[in-house]
Amino acid sequence: MFPRRDYLHDYMMIPPGTDIPSVVNCIVEIPKGRRSKFEVDKVTGLIKLDRYLYSSSVYPGDYGFIPQTLAEDGDPLDVLVMVNEPTFSGCLIEARVVGLFRMKDRGQNDFKILGVPNDDPLFGEIRKLEDVPVHFLREVEHFFATYKQLEGVTTEPLGWANADEGIQEARASVERFRASWGNVRS
Ligand SMILES: [Mg+2]
Repeated sequence: MFPRRDYLHDYMMIPPGTDIPSVVNCIVEIPKGRRSKFEVDKVTGLIKLDRYLYSSSVYPGDYGFIPQTLAEDGDPLDVLVMVNEPTFSGCLIEARVVGLFRMKDRGQNDFKILGVPNDDPLFGEIRKLEDVPVHFLREVEHFFATYKQLEGVTTEPLGWANADEGIQEARASVERFRASWGNVRS
């Protein structure tokens, strides 16, 4: 089955990764340090300004999604990538999965893969969750626990899981996508 017409944009034609599920393609929507929330518009395929975050906080890493995946919330699987400097909206990062942040948004599972740029030697030693500075994990947890508070939306952090669980989540999200859209490109 071919994707619905409203998904027929370039971002959804990109494969989920050359070494999926342990190294994934992350399409960046929001660069690290930004408070503006950009997202790929499902109708036009352009990067669209969704909103300036109501809370006075910024994304702790480059943030985007893995193409050709389907998470439990009906969107592609979210990814947060640790970077030394922000990239830009629409940038493709080959990210090695090092962990998984589990949370609920409005009562629904909304998990985020944690990744690092796979070929960046400055992240060469980061292979699993225990390799990530604990304070960074606290920052991320605090960000996702509070970033929607001033919108009156409740998010519930469920804590961190290791790389294996992140890899499992990536695999499951690829399978979910294939079950509903078919093989767009193999
Ligand atoms: Mg999501």
